[in-house]
Amino acid sequence: KGKHIAIYGKGGIGKSTIVSNLAASYSPDKKVLVIGCDPKADTTRTLVGQRIPTILDILKEKKSAQEEDVLFSGYGGVMCVESGGPEPGVGCAGRGVIVAMKLLENLEVLNQDPDVIIYDVLGDVVCGGFAVPLREDYADEVYIVTSGEYMALYAANNISKGIKKLKGNLGGIICNCRGISREVEIVEEFTRRIGTRVIGVIPRSELVQQSEIDAKTVMEKFPESEQAEKYRKLSVTILDNDNFVIPQPMDAEEFDAFFREFQ
Ligand code: ADP
Ligand code: SF4
Ligand code: MG
Repeated sequence: KGKHIAIYGKGGIGKSTIVSNLAASYSPDKKVLVIGCDPKADTTRTLVGQRIPTILDILKEKKSAQEEDVLFSGYGGVMCVESGGPEPGVGCAGRGVIVAMKLLENLEVLNQDPDVIIYDVLGDVVCGGFAVPLREDYADEVYIVTSGEYMALYAANNISKGIKKLKGNLGGIICNCRGISREVEIVEEFTRRIGTRVIGVIPRSELVQQSEIDAKTVMEKFPESEQAEKYRKLSVTILDNDNFVIPQPMDAEEFDAFFREFQ
């Protein structure tokens, strides 16, 4: 069985950038499947070079979908899928993930034995829908992306609550730097408090935007850069990781006290 990874984190924190660069780093040696579970549906854009139709879009158009309707090949042969989301203001985004996973199951996409499956999951709301990649035993290990900012850590703590409830295996925290002072120190202390560790630190870099403009990953556009090396290193660390915990999230007061220590 391959490695099935879920990446959670607050909206805008850098999940899709990390997921797409990890996928690009594993390919083409490994057979990789990326499943975007964020209504933003932009996880796979930098892998394919453009946005792909989402499962929800396709199911809206026609009643049934085939593998070739929803599965797209990207950089290095990475297989790409987007669940999609409802029109703003109507329907339930979490349900989109459920519908998408059911379809992928029926089409037996998950049974083609990819070496690595990566789920990119929006984690502002750890509601029923967004917990599906965790709950239904789709992903065996979870990583949370955060910066040292209050709201990102707050979301990371909340996501930990969901992981604990579902007895998920937390493999560590990825620090995607915003460039605030003592950032790695704050994130390291956060991981100590909830019983895990920092598994990788990704610096803030202009190369991320420069690649994004071309709808490419950093791995594709700047393969020799230091930033690409950071993603490559993270991909190896995750592949070799065998250190998993059920996190012990903080309550609201503990969290605020923790954060104040660094101000
Ligand atoms: P998410 O998927 O969590 O919503 P994204 O991966 O789409 O977040 O990233 C949000 C924005 O932040 C994007 O415009 C991206 O270019 C930028 N970004 C992400 N990581 C970095 C980084 N390490 N350095 C600079 N910009 C980054
Ligand atoms: Fe759907 Fe989750 Fe929103 Fe509830 S919180 S309506 S399950 S997306
Ligand atoms: Mg995203």
